[in-house]
Amino acid sequence: MTQSINRIVILGGGTAGWIAANLMATHWADKGVEITLVESPDIGIIGVGEGSTPPLKGFMQTIGAKESEWMPACNATYKVGITFKDWSVKPGFSQYVHPFLCQPDQFTAPAFFHNSFLRRKGVDLEGHPDHFFLTTELIRQKLAPLAPPNFPFEINYGYHFDSGLLGQYLARFAAGKGVKHQYATVTEVLLDSAGNIDCLVTDSGDKIKGDFYVDSTGFKGQLIQQALKEPFLSCADSLFNDSAVVFATEADQDIAPHTVSTALKYGWAWRIPLTNRVGNGYVYSSAFVDHDQAETEFRSHLGLLDKDTEARRLQFKVGRGARHWVKNCLAVGLSQGFIEPLEATALDMVQETVVRFIEAYNQGNGSDQHREAFNQRISNRFDAVRDYIVCHYRISSRTDSEYWRACGSNEKISMSLRSILMSWMAGNNITDELEKQKLDAYFPNVSWNCLLAGKGIYPSQEQLKPGSELANQYKIDGIQRFIQGCAMNFPPHMQALAQLRAG
Ligand SMILES: Cc1cc2nc3c(=O)[nH]c(=O)nc-3n(C[C@H](O)[C@H](O)[C@H](O)COP(=O)(O)OP(=O)(O)OC[C@H]3O[C@@H](n4cnc5c(N)ncnc54)[C@H](O)[C@@H]3O)c2cc1C
Repeated sequence: MTQSINRIVILGGGTAGWIAANLMATHWADKGVEITLVESPDIGIIGVGEGSTPPLKGFMQTIGAKESEWMPACNATYKVGITFKDWSVKPGFSQYVHPFLCQPDQFTAPAFFHNSFLRRKGVDLEGHPDHFFLTTELIRQKLAPLAPPNFPFEINYGYHFDSGLLGQYLARFAAGKGVKHQYATVTEVLLDSAGNIDCLVTDSGDKIKGDFYVDSTGFKGQLIQQALKEPFLSCADSLFNDSAVVFATEADQDIAPHTVSTALKYGWAWRIPLTNRVGNGYVYSSAFVDHDQAETEFRSHLGLLDKDTEARRLQFKVGRGARHWVKNCLAVGLSQGFIEPLEATALDMVQETVVRFIEAYNQGNGSDQHREAFNQRISNRFDAVRDYIVCHYRISSRTDSEYWRACGSNEKISMSLRSILMSWMAGNNITDELEKQKLDAYFPNVSWNCLLAGKGIYPSQEQLKPGSELANQYKIDGIQRFIQGCAMNFPPHMQALAQLRAG
C-alpha cells in the first residue's frame, strides 16, 4: 500500500508538535503539502524538558533558526555534558561527567580506553573519565563551546532552554513557513473502513480532515493509542520512576554549561541553568516514597524548606508504542513513548522520528516495507536509550534506601544490557558486544565506557597492582596539558551568552 500526502494535520502544540511542523514544512511545504497544527486552548503542554542533546543544533540549522535569535528568546544556555553526582559510593567516583564528544577527544580517548581496560584487569591506572575529555574542562572553567574560526576542530554541544518559550518560538517560526495554526479541542476521531483516520471532530462539532495525521497529544496518545489502539510497551519493571516535582530557583551568577543530575534517596534531581532561572526537578518512584515526602526531601536538598516556593507535580509513564507509524498516523513525542529524562533524549527522539519518517516517506511513498523498516529503526533507538538509562540504575552502588537496593538488584533487564555488563565485568573490550547488541544505536562506545568507568565499576583499590612501563604509556599530565591548551581557545560562557543577547 502507498499513501500520498497532501494535507497533514498535527494534533498537539507541545515541543514535539512544533518540531514536527517545522521539519515537515522545511522539507515539504514547497512541494505543495499543506500543514495545519491543531492544539487545545484548554489542555496545556507538559512544560518540562529543558535540556537537549547535540542534535538539536542540527535541527535549528535545518529549519534556519539562528542561535543569536532563538537562544535569547528562550533564555537558553549552552550544554556540553551532564555531571552525575552521588550515584556511586565507590571511593574517588562520587561524580563524573558524561561529555558530549568533540573532535579533539580523538587524541585523548585512546588513553581513556587503554587505562580503563587495564584497570579492569587489575592494573593501577587512572580510569576516571573526567581526566580525558575536553568538554569536562569547559564545564570546570565555565567556558562556552564556541571556538574561534582558526581552532581546527568541530565541537559538539546541546542547549538548555525554557520549554514554553521554545514552543512559542517554534510556533512563530513554523507560521513563517506557512504552517496553519488552529485552536480546538478534539473529542472524537473517526476512522474509515480501512482503519485509517478519516477526520478529527472538535468539541464544537467541526470536522478537521487531512490525509495524514501526526499524534503529538502527549502521554495520552489520543490518535495512536486511543483511536488506532496501538499497544504501549511499558518498561516500568526496569525503570521505576514515575513522578517528578519541579521548582525554579534563582539564576546562577556564573553559569557552567552542564546539567547536573544528583542522585537522592528515591531517584535523582536535575539542575538546569537558564539565563533567568535554574530549573530543578526531582524524578522519583511513587512506589517507594509518597509525593509529600519526596517534595520535602527535594526542598531540603535545594535549601527551600522554609520558603513557600511553588512546586509543580507531574506523573509519567515509561515505555514506547509497539509502532510509531501506523496507518496514516505518525506518533511523535510523549505519545510515541518516553524513557525518563535522565539523559535528556526525548526531543532528540522527536527529531529523529520526524527526519527518518520524511526520509522513509520520500523513498517509499508510504510503502509497507519502508514503514516497517522505519518502525524497527525507531524502536531500536528507543530500546538502546532504555538500556543505557537502565544501566545507570543497575550499576549504582548506593544502598541507602529500599529504592536503590531494588535498582541495584533488578534482574528484569534486557538480554542485551546483561551481555554488556557481563562483558565489562569479565574485563573484555565492550566495543564488539555493543555493536552485536545494536546498543550503539544511540549512545556511542565512549558514552558506555564513561558510564561504567565513571561509576567506578572497577576492581577495588586494594586489588590493583602497579603496571609496567608499557601499561603506563599515557601520562595524565600530558593529557591535561593538551586539554587545557585546547580550552584556552574558548570564551567564558557568560561572555558568549551576553554577546548573543547583544546580537
Ligand atoms: C519530568 C520530565 C522531564 C523531562 N525532561 C526532558 C529533558 O530534559 N529533555 C528532553 O528532551 N525531554 C524531556 N522531557 C520530555 C519532554 O518534556 C517532552 O518530550 C516534550 O515536552 C514534548 O512533549 P509533547 O509535545 O509530546 O507533549 P505535551 O507538551 O504534553 O503537548 C501535548 C499537546 O497536545 C495538545 N492536545 C492534547 N489533547 C488534545 C486534544 N484532544 N485536542 C487538541 N489538542 C490536544 C495539548 O494542547 C498540547 O498542546 C521530560 C519529560 C518529563 C515528564
